[in-house]
Amino acid sequence: ANQAALEQGLVIAAHGRHYLVQAGEQKLNCVTRGKKSDVAVGDHIRLARTSADQGVVESIDERRTLLYRSDQYKSKLLAANVDQLFIVVATEPSFSDDLVSRSLVAAESAGVSAHLILNKTDITEALPKTRERLQVYARLGYPVHEVSAKAQPDETRAAFMPLLAGKSTILIGQSGMGKSSIINLIVPDADIATREISAALDTGKHTTTFTRLYQMEQEASIIDSPGFQEFGLYQLSEGMLERAFRDFTPYLGKCRFYNCHHLNEPGCAVLEAVQAGAIAGMRHQLYAQLVHESSQTLY
Ligand code: GDP
Ligand code: ZN
Repeated sequence: ANQAALEQGLVIAAHGRHYLVQAGEQKLNCVTRGKKSDVAVGDHIRLARTSADQGVVESIDERRTLLYRSDQYKSKLLAANVDQLFIVVATEPSFSDDLVSRSLVAAESAGVSAHLILNKTDITEALPKTRERLQVYARLGYPVHEVSAKAQPDETRAAFMPLLAGKSTILIGQSGMGKSSIINLIVPDADIATREISAALDTGKHTTTFTRLYQMEQEASIIDSPGFQEFGLYQLSEGMLERAFRDFTPYLGKCRFYNCHHLNEPGCAVLEAVQAGAIAGMRHQLYAQLVHESSQTLY
């Protein structure tokens, strides 16, 4: 197509091979050519208009960052051009350290910064224990923000606003942590916007199972993804994996063998750090598990 005739747009929702694209003041229902579905929410694209409210995606602008979903999803791309990942956890119900660490690995390897949001601090009985559990992440330098979406909505909104300004933020969380409550606090028209998107993409009345992006004031955008997004980590090489574990960094290059896998080799500086308690055992277990998972996909 003639590049000059193309319009610019921002992908704000994806459902199968249909994409809702914000082009100026308008929202267009766009498709890709052929069977390709390599467009992600957050992508800046060039489109050719085919009708007043429809278009075809002709090209995707270069991405700053890209997050992948796990294998089980049809579309492998979760979101593009995300600056920061907020992982919502709560005092109650209990959260999974495995899922938190997997999300941190996904963020590190994509060059996306990661924050933990501890919601429901009003449940004071469970607060000390939860804070203690989050120490391992705080010590690695991941900011932990304490909020209470339900008990302190104004304070919660005020805590989020400066963190969001000028950035594209994706929120994830296991069910029950309060992610929807938080989204509804910081995006006042989230429900209306979701219904509009659903209608425009014809997703069916009761489907909210699509990733969507909300544009807000101060150049901020918020991406909400339904369910807990299991990140795709299978595409990470072993070298990328070891670098995605911040706690390993001081020990890399100090193992006896230059090609050490940090699994059971003698003279492994990483394993010695685990033994000494400088690296949490659960972090190394996850690393070993991810090495195992990625080798399963390769061979
Ligand atoms: P989601 O599944 O992560 O989207 O969680 P929801 O936003 O639906 O919240 C799950 C439950 O936790 C609901 O019953 C909320 O009312 C409750 N909840 C959300 N935020 C808070 C909070 O700050 N304190 C307390 N006590 N409950 C909360
Ligand atoms: Zn090693």
